[in-house]
Amino acid sequence: MTAYQTYISEELDEATKNLLEEYWHIENDKFSNRAKDILVKYCLTKGSLIKILRENSYCDKIVGKCVGCGVEIKVRGYSQGAFDYVHSRSNRICEDCDKKFERKRIEEKKLRDEESKLKIEDEKLKAENEKRLNFEKVFSDKRWFELMEYERDILLKIIENRTKEKIYKNVFNGDPYNRSIWEVVNRIVKLGLLKIQRTGSGSIIKFEFDEKLETEIKSFKGIKELPYFQQHLKKTSQKPTQNYPDYTGIFTLENDFLFQKLLKYEYSGWIKFDDSINLKLSPPKDKNIKALNIDDSMNNVLSYLHIQLEKITNNPSYNQPHFSGTFVPTNDVILKAKEKYVYSGWLHFDELLRLKITPLKDIPKRDRTSDVKREPKSIREILLESFQTKK
Ligand SMILES: [Zn+2]
Repeated sequence: MTAYQTYISEELDEATKNLLEEYWHIENDKFSNRAKDILVKYCLTKGSLIKILRENSYCDKIVGKCVGCGVEIKVRGYSQGAFDYVHSRSNRICEDCDKKFERKRIEEKKLRDEESKLKIEDEKLKAENEKRLNFEKVFSDKRWFELMEYERDILLKIIENRTKEKIYKNVFNGDPYNRSIWEVVNRIVKLGLLKIQRTGSGSIIKFEFDEKLETEIKSFKGIKELPYFQQHLKKTSQKPTQNYPDYTGIFTLENDFLFQKLLKYEYSGWIKFDDSINLKLSPPKDKNIKALNIDDSMNNVLSYLHIQLEKITNNPSYNQPHFSGTFVPTNDVILKAKEKYVYSGWLHFDELLRLKITPLKDIPKRDRTSDVKREPKSIREILLESFQTKK
């Protein structure tokens, strides 16, 4: 089947009809007479030939079937050259179908837009829910217990001021880059008590928190911080094992105490007549002066504290401490009120006391079968017994 279909007007003089028949003559799916030859043969200008062609004939080329409806798709031309760049293709679409497809595309796009809108809303909801769950966890953990009094004050001020502008003005004292405030804020954020919503470029949109926090913190504010840490270290009379600490005991604090990292604390210890030590750890007067930054990456809150106490060897007078010096915690350590802590101290050649303070709950319980095996009691068990009989 030929791809071309030519139409020549009926009412023509013989010469013109011959001309058009010759011009549009097709053999093996190709035009057999070149336009140039016809111009010569009929003594015509290009312009007059074009005029004749346009007015009296045309040619359709079937380029394929519509993939949508199967209808033949034709391209109409008024000269041989019109088909020079028209090639048969199998994936053509007729105009009707094209319109239909276009409609479908628009509908599909609408659907997609709708879907992505729903997805965004869904994600927003999910984020909200997650936020709610996170805040719930903050509440069940009572995380504000982990804050120092001045840190709780800052959190409370943030909650009371609510908006970013007011927070900058009243909490950051007009300086949004206030580093000491940011240090506290970052700690509060780390505990999950506060969220900071930022733009993609990192600038702050708003401070987010659970409104319930306000009452919780206000009612919590009865508890104060201790001005310094003081502990009476009891000497072990008989060490059950070689590694058993020379000084050990359990204590609780009435109020919180925070050992802040990189601050230079002073220690002083007085050895009493019964060989026990009265130990005092004092924070520096100016909490803004920090020791050299040992390692900024160590900013976790640890549950235990290590201190090395040096003994003064040259005979201190009666009211001078036997142990004296400074130490710098490399991490924040919070001793929480009402919680049980264990102090353990080991003497080294009578010159150095290595002291460790650990939450009792962090000391692993000994194997329950120990009674059966008749093993010696663990430090924990001995300490717990002495603590309970003391009460
Ligand atoms: Zn179609």
